Amino acid sequence: MSYIEEQLNKCRIQNSNEPEFIQAVTEVIEAINIVVKNDEKYEKFNIIERLVEPDRQIKFRVSWVDDNGNIQVNRGYRVQFNNVLGPYKGGLRFHPSVNMSIIKFLGFEQIFKNALTGLPIGGGKGGADFDPKGKSDREIMSFCQSFMTELYKYIGPNIDVPAGDIGVGDREIGYLFGQYKRIKNAYEGTITGKNILFGGSLIRKEATGYGLLYLTEEMLRQNNHEIMGKVVSISGAGNVAIYAAEKAIQMGAKVVTLSDSTGWIYDENGIDINMIKDIKEIKRERLSIYKKYRPNSKYNEGKFLWGIPCDIALPCATQNELDLKSAENLINNGVVAIAEGANMPTTLDATKLLLSKGILFAPAKAANAGGVAVSALEMSQNSIRMSWTSEEVDRKLKDIMINIFNQISNSANRYGLHKNYIAGANIAGFEKVADAMISQGII
Ligand code: NDP
Repeated sequence: MSYIEEQLNKCRIQNSNEPEFIQAVTEVIEAINIVVKNDEKYEKFNIIERLVEPDRQIKFRVSWVDDNGNIQVNRGYRVQFNNVLGPYKGGLRFHPSVNMSIIKFLGFEQIFKNALTGLPIGGGKGGADFDPKGKSDREIMSFCQSFMTELYKYIGPNIDVPAGDIGVGDREIGYLFGQYKRIKNAYEGTITGKNILFGGSLIRKEATGYGLLYLTEEMLRQNNHEIMGKVVSISGAGNVAIYAAEKAIQMGAKVVTLSDSTGWIYDENGIDINMIKDIKEIKRERLSIYKKYRPNSKYNEGKFLWGIPCDIALPCATQNELDLKSAENLINNGVVAIAEGANMPTTLDATKLLLSKGILFAPAKAANAGGVAVSALEMSQNSIRMSWTSEEVDRKLKDIMINIFNQISNSANRYGLHKNYIAGANIAGFEKVADAMISQGII
């Protein structure tokens, strides 16, 4: 049995109750097999076994009081995965599905994504099995304050810098930052995604969605396609999906779908993004009410939006939302490119099929790195106590995304894996992290 096979088996056995984590590790390890076989130092320094074991996993109780005076208890998590390239960095997810497997898969992915940005940030992730949906502002505040009262012990601007993710937006970040500052009596940039009034960066809210489109545009351009005039299907209706849709429309594409966890909308004439922002960001309503304002659009219950014909598909909701059947439909309907806005939205079998059919495929760790990249720019601005303009941040974001695409394309080419951007992203991220681990000794 080869070193790689042995380590993958061991990881599967040791983490047998963590399917999402095993899925993420399998994808990375299969892709870097070629690199590890090619250079004996990775086996000599036992890099794989060290890489799949987080530096530490923190799990804690979060007690809070709801509006009826009842005491509620949730589970909080922070996985500090790897800090060879910089302080741990990665978002917090508040969703009932959150468990250790999901946080570990996200933290593991984050290591390589952060490496690809070229900025000094390590990988981590956290969250809680708390559902913000339907909660009052006071309940959200109560939960966030309790969560931070435990988390603050483990984080800091040079240690670990959390941010938002599913269920954690502007409002939650504000409450988390307020409580951190109160307990530590320190005004420091320990959380990113902050409001612009107190240390946030311009373009942070837009960064993941905009960055996704900058990278997609570059991938299309280098493969003799363009985004102008293309039909784009997007899933999700949160932070990533909304700003991906906005940038796609600005680039001259037509966005025809969006979804939430109860259903999806199809607007053949092109979705009105300002109306979506009003529904989701201001009214905090469900997506289904879009039809009330656009009677010609369609609302469908359920998840299966990938049956709609499109040129470009951008899954931006959650993990494993694009399965084999979805991939078959997209291929039959002539899809040209897929770029992952969400983390691991495509199942392993769907990914393999799409690659075998020559569909251009930009994996999450490259395609959605714009959010963490601008978070790192927010850390820089906080450190020097300055704020850059929207134009400056947007320009830096675009440069970073184009640079990421070139890195993943070149890394794939170096190993003769032309246009396999999944392999390219894993190889480019792995080489940086593994080489830094070797340089820093056995720790
Ligand atoms: P939001 O909470 O803003 O939005 C998530 C969207 O996805 C909502 O429309 C939500 O619907 C839907 N959704 C969530 N869970 C499910 C589910 N189980 N089934 C179907 N739909 C679901 O999150 P973000 O937009 O921030 O994050 C979306 C994805 O992008 C995640 O995978 C996240 O990890 C990834 N990501 C986010 C970054 C960021 O900067 N925010 C950076 C990089 C990656 P509903 O409202 O009904 O729950």
